[in-house]
Amino acid sequence: MSVLTGVPDARDFLATDSLLDEEEILIRDTVRRFVAERIVPDVGEWFERATFPRELIKDIAALGLLGMHLDGYGCAGTNATSYGLACMELEAGDTGVRSFVSVQGSLAMFPIWAYGSEEQKQRWLPAMAAGDAVGCFGLTEPDSGSDPAGMRTRARRDGDDWVLDGTKMWITNGGIADVAVVWAMTDDSVRGFLVPTDTPGFSANAVERKLSLRASVTSELVLEGVRLPGDAVLPGVQGMRGPLSCLSEARFGIVFGAMGAARACFEAALDYAKTREQFGKPIAAFQLTQRKLVDMMVAVNRGTLLALHLGRMKDAGDLAAAHVSVGKLDNVRVALDVARTARSVLGANGVTLEYPVIRHMNNLESVLTYEGTNEIHTLILGQALTGHAAFA
Ligand SMILES: Cc1cc2nc3c(=O)[nH]c(=O)nc-3n(C[C@H](O)[C@H](O)[C@H](O)COP(=O)(O)OP(=O)(O)OC[C@H]3O[C@@H](n4cnc5c(N)ncnc54)[C@H](O)[C@@H]3O)c2cc1C
Repeated sequence: MSVLTGVPDARDFLATDSLLDEEEILIRDTVRRFVAERIVPDVGEWFERATFPRELIKDIAALGLLGMHLDGYGCAGTNATSYGLACMELEAGDTGVRSFVSVQGSLAMFPIWAYGSEEQKQRWLPAMAAGDAVGCFGLTEPDSGSDPAGMRTRARRDGDDWVLDGTKMWITNGGIADVAVVWAMTDDSVRGFLVPTDTPGFSANAVERKLSLRASVTSELVLEGVRLPGDAVLPGVQGMRGPLSCLSEARFGIVFGAMGAARACFEAALDYAKTREQFGKPIAAFQLTQRKLVDMMVAVNRGTLLALHLGRMKDAGDLAAAHVSVGKLDNVRVALDVARTARSVLGANGVTLEYPVIRHMNNLESVLTYEGTNEIHTLILGQALTGHAAFA
């Protein structure tokens, strides 16, 4: 067959849409429309005022996006690729909204779904899928981030009860959560606990003055003698495998999400370059600008293909945690590069919230750090390649 001669669509240059089935396109388009109508018009203001739009939670739930890749208990039960595509569209709007959905579905609902008792599932999952209850995931602490096994939060038995003491830090959704999935060290191993946030001794304090993920709630969780019944522990998992498996789920969404943010930056730069004139012509007509636009387009298409490939592997049951690390490592650093390049195309306008670029750029700095920093994913992959763990 010969090569076609037409000019590809600048917004889907490699025609990646052809890799999606009808249902995936429907889900993707539905989320894209929601983002265009409900997020894009106001997100600059939410970011500026540092508020998360809680009023959107029920609407996000009505689209079936909360715990969407889980089966049963009111969850939509889509394939993993569709979940990834939803993350991509949400993050094209704002990383904060994607983070809300990731934390709710992958970090709070997933451990209950995978490791919870039937009673725990019945109590929390339908309410969380419907947006009537919000969850958060407490793993990181002030003194243990990349090395969460060094946690100080302790859970001790007292008769039939558990008593939790400790502090969790940087917890997305913390201040708006109804239930916190808290990982704590017991006498034997790390265990996950479901902590209703109205339990005496539990409090959440907002992390203030963030310059990234401002349209997202980030909190410190304080647990002081938090007494829970014996059945508050997740029965199905012990050890660091529990939290790490949840992180793999959420990182998978980030592989797609980062490309959503990158795509939004590329498109903003492309639109701007075509209309902004200097030296008597659009800046898009300068070779140096074209190089930036081409580099961004190639990066977004390559990262999207990588995300879709990992999605297909997950749906086939062939995805290992180290595969997810390839996507998290590369797509986030590439997205950040795209955002910075787009910012330069917009010149001075690129530093204001009138355009989405600097908001995405600042948000992506958090994405580079959370869910395993770039250094940690490099070490995970280094170990996978060589057999040598170089973490410590
Ligand atoms: C906005 C936001 C939201 C978050 N949400 C959540 C949440 O919902 N739940 C949760 O539990 N956590 C959350 N986190 C925390 C996040 O997961 C941690 O910030 C992350 O794991 C890194 O930990 P740290 O910030 O303590 O950095 P550190 O671990 O102190 O790392 C600092 C630097 O040292 C590097 N480093 C560390 N160890 C090594 C090593 N062995 N070799 C080479 N370099 C190394 C790191 O890569 C990094 O560059 C969130 C963070 C942010 C910013």
